[in-house]
Amino acid sequence: MHRPALLLTVVLAVAVLVLNNAFGAVPALKAHDYKMAGDAQYTRVVIHFDRKPDFRWFLLRDPSRLVIDLPSTEFSFDPLELRPRGLIAAVQYGAVDAQRARILFKAEGPFAVEQVDVMKNETSEGFRLIIELRASSSEAFDTALRASIMKPSAEGGRPETVKPMNDRFTIALDAGHGGADGGARGVNGTVEKQITLLFSLELAKKIEETGRYRVVLTRDDDRFLRLDERVRIAREKGADLFVSVHADAIAVRGVRGATVYTVSDKASDAEAAATAARENLSDEIAGKVAEEEQNEVEDILVDLIRRETHAFSIRFARTLIGKLSDSIQLVKNPHRYAGFRVLRAPDIPSVLLELGYLSNPKDEAQLRDPQWRATTMEAIIDAIGYFAKANGAAGG
Ligand SMILES: [Zn+2]
Repeated sequence: MHRPALLLTVVLAVAVLVLNNAFGAVPALKAHDYKMAGDAQYTRVVIHFDRKPDFRWFLLRDPSRLVIDLPSTEFSFDPLELRPRGLIAAVQYGAVDAQRARILFKAEGPFAVEQVDVMKNETSEGFRLIIELRASSSEAFDTALRASIMKPSAEGGRPETVKPMNDRFTIALDAGHGGADGGARGVNGTVEKQITLLFSLELAKKIEETGRYRVVLTRDDDRFLRLDERVRIAREKGADLFVSVHADAIAVRGVRGATVYTVSDKASDAEAAATAARENLSDEIAGKVAEEEQNEVEDILVDLIRRETHAFSIRFARTLIGKLSDSIQLVKNPHRYAGFRVLRAPDIPSVLLELGYLSNPKDEAQLRDPQWRATTMEAIIDAIGYFAKANGAAGG
């Protein structure tokens, strides 16, 4: 390299450094001295850092994995130390983007996280991250996974769990529509916002009477709520499950029966897409424009959590259909999916239950029949019980 070129390179490098500092960029964290020890029952990992790392961790399944998210980090690990050992089948690490890095541990099987902690080194500079994993059952892993799913947090740090582990399993009931948004209207005059509220209030009472679960209602009166507000209320109240209650109307009067929807960017069919479009109109009908959907920290982490949550939503939808099919009439292919905005909580399994069609006189009559509602609610509570138990809820 000619001297002027070298000089230019140095000048540029200095300029970049100065600019970076001017914009408050912090130098990358340095991770070094990776050590792993243990056996198939218990494995301990220690990673050293030049300064205290801001980190978050969470779990992924199929296969069982532990993910550690870090700010921008330079890794200098000895590849020999990364060879599979004990519970750990593989270790991957690297930059996610300019600001973030990640270490991913793939395990041989389900495990429990006994510890993920940062300690200050006693006899030298720097800090160390200590991870302790113990082999466990798939059920225990799934429970831990639910608990590890964190709310997106700009500050990073320890994952903020949705709720304390010993808290009761909480169901958010979302009575569709309300206030200026009446929803669908039945052939004999039933208004959707009224029937969804009535149903939700009755169901909340029945669920609470079991003494096993906690219920939160997104609304308990005739008020308008934006779709994102419904999601926010459920998240703030620490819901474990979100059920939005509706009773749609369509042009084809003959169509009847209940449908359970989950969220998906790609609709299961044209009718599901049309239903989602109608339900998403809620915000516009009231003359209020939905806030930016991206006001939460939308990052890869949230995407991963969404995917995990989605699996739980589908599991609950199937359970619910199984229980409902024993008691009430369902549409053909009763599990459908489309882009429902109200089902967008990244960390709460969510379904939208269309109880029936207000455009069908028989469905409308049923919705007004207390006995039919009671039967339907029993099936829903059965499904909640089954789901809560499978997810390790205390007392579920
Ligand atoms: Zn509706």
